[in-house]
Amino acid sequence: MLTIPGRCWLCRLALACPGWGICSSCTASLIQPQACCPQCGLPALRGHSPCGRCLQRTPEWDTITYVSDYLPPLSTLIHHLKFTGTPSLAPALARLLLLRILAARREGRIQLPDTLVSVPLHHTRAWRRGYNQSALIATPLAHWLGRKYSPFAIKRIRSSPAQHTLTAKERKRNLKGIFRVEIPVAGRHMAIVDDVVTTGSTVAEIARLLKRQGAATVQVWCLCRTL
Ligand SMILES: [Zn+2]
Ligand SMILES: [Zn+2]
Repeated sequence: MLTIPGRCWLCRLALACPGWGICSSCTASLIQPQACCPQCGLPALRGHSPCGRCLQRTPEWDTITYVSDYLPPLSTLIHHLKFTGTPSLAPALARLLLLRILAARREGRIQLPDTLVSVPLHHTRAWRRGYNQSALIATPLAHWLGRKYSPFAIKRIRSSPAQHTLTAKERKRNLKGIFRVEIPVAGRHMAIVDDVVTTGSTVAEIARLLKRQGAATVQVWCLCRTL
C-alpha cells in the first residue's frame, strides 16, 4: 500500500497530527454508531439489550466492542495490515478502536479491564508474516489506556486447519484444547484483542478458558465484527 508520510491513509489529505494516520473526517465516517446487540455485537433492532440469539444462548464473553462491520474502507486497511506487510497501519487502526472503547465507557456500557490479551497466531504463521496483527493493535491500546498487555498470556499449543473452511460446529471442535492460559487471571477483568471476529468461535474459546481460570469479566475488543 502506497503511503505518503503525514497524509491520511484514506483520503490523502494532510494530517493535523501525523501520528494518527487517519484524518478526523475519515475517522468520523468510520466510527458512526450503529444499532447492535451489546453482547454478540451483531445487528439488532434495539442497541441496548441483548438480542434474541443471546437471550437463548449467552456468549462466552460479556461484551464486545468494535469499530465497524467488515466493509471497505476499513476491511481494505485490515487486509493491508495482515497480508501486504504494512504493520505501520496498526496504530491508526488501534486508535479507531480506542475511540470506540472510550465512547462505550462514557456511555456506561463497559469498564476498562485490568489486562489485555491477544489472540495468538500459530508460530509458523507469525514467523511467515513477521508479526501478529492483534498484538500490534493491543500494544498501543494498553499504553493509551494505562492498562497491562500480556502478549504471551494465551499460548497456542497446536496448529489448527484454517477455520474459514469449517462449519460452526466443526470450528468449535477444531478449537478444543488448542489454547492455554499462561498467566493467573483469577478475579481479574480481561479484554481479548483480535482484528476481525466472524463466528466468534476463537475468542469464545479463549473467553471460556479465561472464565474457567476465574477471570471476573471477559470482554472482546476487535476492529471488525461481521458474519
Ligand atoms: Zn482522511
Ligand atoms: Zn446478541
